[in-house]
Amino acid sequence: MTDHDTHGQAVGEKKEVKRFTSEMRFPELLYIVEIIRGLGVTLRHLLRNLLSPSSMPVISYPEERRVYGSLFRGRHYIRVREDGTPRCVACMMCATVCPARCITIVAEESPNPEIEKRPKSFTIDGLRCVMCGFCVDACPAEAIYMSGEYEMAEYAREACIWDLDFLMNRPSLKNAPPGYRPLE
Ligand code: SF4
Ligand code: SF4
Repeated sequence: MTDHDTHGQAVGEKKEVKRFTSEMRFPELLYIVEIIRGLGVTLRHLLRNLLSPSSMPVISYPEERRVYGSLFRGRHYIRVREDGTPRCVACMMCATVCPARCITIVAEESPNPEIEKRPKSFTIDGLRCVMCGFCVDACPAEAIYMSGEYEMAEYAREACIWDLDFLMNRPSLKNAPPGYRPLE
């Protein structure tokens, strides 16, 4: 059995050393040709983008906004009944199915005799949510939908905990397109 060194080369084998100086021409050795060729590519793209900005594969955010599909999985919202109460019946299905364990619900008895429970508190930790949409799929009351909102940056972690009031009433929802929801 042949012994090998730490680089996998058999001990005693003569290591072949490539002599760059003898195989490369002088300009190649200095990489001048390749550098000039690379700058040429950069210049070509620069001129093309300057002369035809609309063909650039980017958008000028925030002046321009990208239009996403109608089932985009943006920030959630809780749908409300006509009397202003949440459609959520605190069944815990969404919290159970959530892979990120980021939904926390405290249930209480509903004053409406036709509804067994309602959420006393309902929070989604937006920092842990992976926007998978499983909570929407699991909800038997079609109470939780996702919106087209994708701007969710905040200055404080606390602002990323979305409570029931926020999920039901935020004004930005009026202008946001609907997002992921059960197909009608
Ligand atoms: S979208 Fe997914 S990760 Fe986010 S709250 Fe719903 S189930 Fe959990
Ligand atoms: S699955 Fe729907 S009804 Fe049940 S707790 Fe979640 S949001 Fe409320």
